[in-house]
Amino acid sequence: TKKIELIKKNIGLYPDFPVPGVSFRDTFSILRQPNLFNTLKSILIDAVQTHFMEAECIAGLDARGFLIGPLIALELRLPFIPIRKQGKLPGKVTSEGYTKEYGKDTVEVQTDSVTPGMKILVVDDLLATGGSLEASCHLIEKCQGDVIGCLVIIEIESLHGRSRLHVPIHSIVKY
Ligand code: IMP
Repeated sequence: TKKIELIKKNIGLYPDFPVPGVSFRDTFSILRQPNLFNTLKSILIDAVQTHFMEAECIAGLDARGFLIGPLIALELRLPFIPIRKQGKLPGKVTSEGYTKEYGKDTVEVQTDSVTPGMKILVVDDLLATGGSLEASCHLIEKCQGDVIGCLVIIEIESLHGRSRLHVPIHSIVKY
């Protein structure tokens, strides 16, 4: 649609960032323009209402999932829960380690933020190799949450991240 084309056209592109050979897609260029941010918001809300109607909770990944997650959650009057890198969240946490292209990482969630059987939609800005979302989905399942799907703004299709995830994935813009 026109709205999605407008968003796609305005996503920043930075060749060779953070390392040579990588093309970095930057969604902050959207947030700089309130009209575009509002358009993105309505696209995201539509996507949840079309594809993930049963969601009872929105989980967002550190850090850019924190920008869109609460936006969706508040609009739909759903709870928002953060998924963060190890050591950032207070209280009792559940952890999940995963392997990245360069080294290892661990994500955590506050254990009491997930109630058993809760239908959770996981959101982030971008799906690349799928490692972050895969670990986040496993993490929620470890806490007995029911991951109903993942929603991202951007999907880098050539990296096939989608194939690592066993839940429905919806992306707004594909490269
Ligand atoms: P993945 O785990 O390989 O799918 O990488 C996705 C994670 O890395 C997300 O949390 C993104 O925010 C971040 N990321 C990877 N590539 C980009 C990019 O081009 N732009 C912005 N974030 C990126």
